[in-house]
Amino acid sequence: MILFSHDPQAGTLYCYFTELEAGQAVAEWEYPASLLLDRAGRIIGVRLKLDDEITLDQLDLALEHEHVSLDMQYGHLNVSTSTTDPAQVVDLEAAALLDLDDEGRVLGFDIAVPKELTTPTRLAVLEPYMVALDDADVPPTITQRLPPRNSTAPVTGSMPTLPTDRMVQPVQPDGADLALLPHVGFVALVGKPNVGKSTLLNAMLGQKVAIVSPRPQTTRVPLRGILTRPDAQVIFIDTPGIHEPRHKLGQFMVETARRSIPNADVVCMVVDMSMPPTRLDEHIAAQVQQTNAPRLLVLNKVDRPPRQGSHLDAYRALGTWDTEVAVSARTGQGLTALLEAIVTRLPAGHALYPDEQVVDQTEQHLVAELIREKVLHFTRDEVPHSVAVEVEEWEQRQKATYIRLSINVEKESQKGILIGAGGEMLKRIGTIARVDVEQMLGHPVFLDLWVKTRPNWRNDPASLGWLGYRLKDWQC
Ligand code: GDP
Ligand code: MG
Repeated sequence: MILFSHDPQAGTLYCYFTELEAGQAVAEWEYPASLLLDRAGRIIGVRLKLDDEITLDQLDLALEHEHVSLDMQYGHLNVSTSTTDPAQVVDLEAAALLDLDDEGRVLGFDIAVPKELTTPTRLAVLEPYMVALDDADVPPTITQRLPPRNSTAPVTGSMPTLPTDRMVQPVQPDGADLALLPHVGFVALVGKPNVGKSTLLNAMLGQKVAIVSPRPQTTRVPLRGILTRPDAQVIFIDTPGIHEPRHKLGQFMVETARRSIPNADVVCMVVDMSMPPTRLDEHIAAQVQQTNAPRLLVLNKVDRPPRQGSHLDAYRALGTWDTEVAVSARTGQGLTALLEAIVTRLPAGHALYPDEQVVDQTEQHLVAELIREKVLHFTRDEVPHSVAVEVEEWEQRQKATYIRLSINVEKESQKGILIGAGGEMLKRIGTIARVDVEQMLGHPVFLDLWVKTRPNWRNDPASLGWLGYRLKDWQC
């Protein structure tokens, strides 16, 4: 039997052709989807609009079910609980996310469905197929968890409250007291949104410092991640994706990404090997070509089955590269080779940061970013990039660090979604985020989350500054 599940908070409808085991889904493909409705407007099924990149073999698990059929002429995969034709087909705005196992078989999919289409009446026909959402099966973080290598400095004594923003560790002004090493330098990780730059940074550092999301543009401010070993200090700069700006915040992100290229000792252009290059990749590659620093082509996501044969030649053709390395930031494959390729290209010099320092950001900034990651994860497209998280209070109390944060959105409707019925959504975000925050800080915390509405903050320069996005503050 096919299985459906509904998560009202996230507005997601899941459909599975098999019972999922943890870790079984290793890849996600996106396809347009429509809801199939009966005369009474009730959902009777879902239609996925596939193309010929997907093979019949991959649909094995799906086509085993009597409720699933494939219309070869249009490439429609129909999942319908009814034998009669739908009275209405409603195209969904967001694509369905198909989960694939390591053999490329489609295990199921999930779709974001507007609230008005998932009322109990609308879902009545699917009810016999519904299974409860097992929270344990929903991964708390999207990225693979990595054991902490050396955690950020533990908090001791009483923490100052804002505005005294505490750095994880102060940077030594001239590096004079720090060791002379054979290889020291800045490495810019550039690439379009979603290719895996932040995941790569986390994997290289062995702990989570950058936020990761399946939705593009999650990294807002360049983040320095520092890797120190006996012979080298590598300072990675995870830049926001270069993309076409739509809002002022977008312009800021583009500008900072561009700035990181000329200042870097090594530029890594990260691409998603499982997909063909797009115009954005060409655009970014052209910028990367202008630097005199060594240029590395980092072919990420090699763990994923490529969609239309190999794209290697197409990526190589985007420019001239010092070297290329195929990696999977997710599984760790190729990362040692990549690190060696980077380190050997860095000049000798004094270390710029103390050994134990891993990031050049305040703990407060990192905590706010972790909350933002969870917000983006749980709300999908309903709360888009119009969310900014701010730490308002940070106080060491007897049993835990008390952290009050405000989540700023632009619209009342978004505020409603974020809080959820009876505060459920906010509670969920807080519960999951606390686990990550505690792991990062290494001690118990109490997170106090508040949602606020600040209309149009993204286009308001004053509010950009207020939220800490200041271009002049950032230099490589
Ligand atoms: P960024 O926008 O370039 O920083 O990309 P992120 O690091 O946020 O990653 C975007 C999405 O790609 C997330 O869902 C990651 O889990 C996923 N991802 C990153 N690296 C890999 C990889 O090597 N393999 C696979 N399969 N997914 C990856
Ligand atoms: Mg990122």
